[in-house]
Amino acid sequence: MTTPAIITVAITGAVPTTKDNPAVPVTPQRQVESAVAAFEAGATVCHVHVRDAEEKPSSDVGLYEEVQTGIREQCPEMVVQLSTGARGRSIAERFSCLELRPEMASFSTGSCNFPQGIYDNPPDVVEDVAQRLIDYGIKPEIEVFDIAMLYKAADLLERGLLAPPPQVQLVMGIKNALPARESLVDFFAAEIAALMPEATWTCMGTGRFQIEANRWALAKGGHVRTGLEDNIFYSKGRLAASNAELVERAVELCPEHDRHPATPAETRQLLHLPALATQA
Ligand code: MG
Repeated sequence: MTTPAIITVAITGAVPTTKDNPAVPVTPQRQVESAVAAFEAGATVCHVHVRDAEEKPSSDVGLYEEVQTGIREQCPEMVVQLSTGARGRSIAERFSCLELRPEMASFSTGSCNFPQGIYDNPPDVVEDVAQRLIDYGIKPEIEVFDIAMLYKAADLLERGLLAPPPQVQLVMGIKNALPARESLVDFFAAEIAALMPEATWTCMGTGRFQIEANRWALAKGGHVRTGLEDNIFYSKGRLAASNAELVERAVELCPEHDRHPATPAETRQLLHLPALATQA
């Protein structure tokens, strides 16, 4: 028997535009279509950013709601994870989507440098958001852009400000933050085993490191993330045709490591999310 690997698809992100790759979905309708196609290809978690009419990153709650509602209606088994990421918006704006009570939301437990500027998550904000996530019953995906964020997550877990078991993601390949290195994944996995052995984890790499990071995660017991947010190419010089195409490749990698794509039910079980039948 092989072990399930959860495939998360990050459909849009904050950076790539339709000029970079016309397949990047930037309107709610296209985002929902892309999510459904990615689900049919094998992804069970959808990480969502939204864009304004000029394709700029947005925190508009109405846009988030459209995407979340669309995915829930057309693809009720898929787990929707809303991004609370930065890039130019205020802290209050970034976390406004929590009011929509998504099943999951991304959450970084510290600050670091980004390609331009600082990804700003001061200690008081981290504590405040952690409490809101508990109060709202939203499962965070802890996004570790710098390694101190892992230890802050362990601290929150110990203090009851992070519901067990946590889901933690190592983010690699962002300029000025962590590079994509296998040794980092080994260190990350070992520290997770020591500090929060019940946790599930994912590692992701940007650009050409996407597949490498998928392979490292599959080999070491982690879960995978793919999608146009992190990488717009299928291979060198060849744009990915869709999010689904990138998911298909992640699916193909699974058996090489005695893994299989987690079914929706396995995904919910692994992440300790309510089975679909009990959802409101
Ligand atoms: Mg993101």
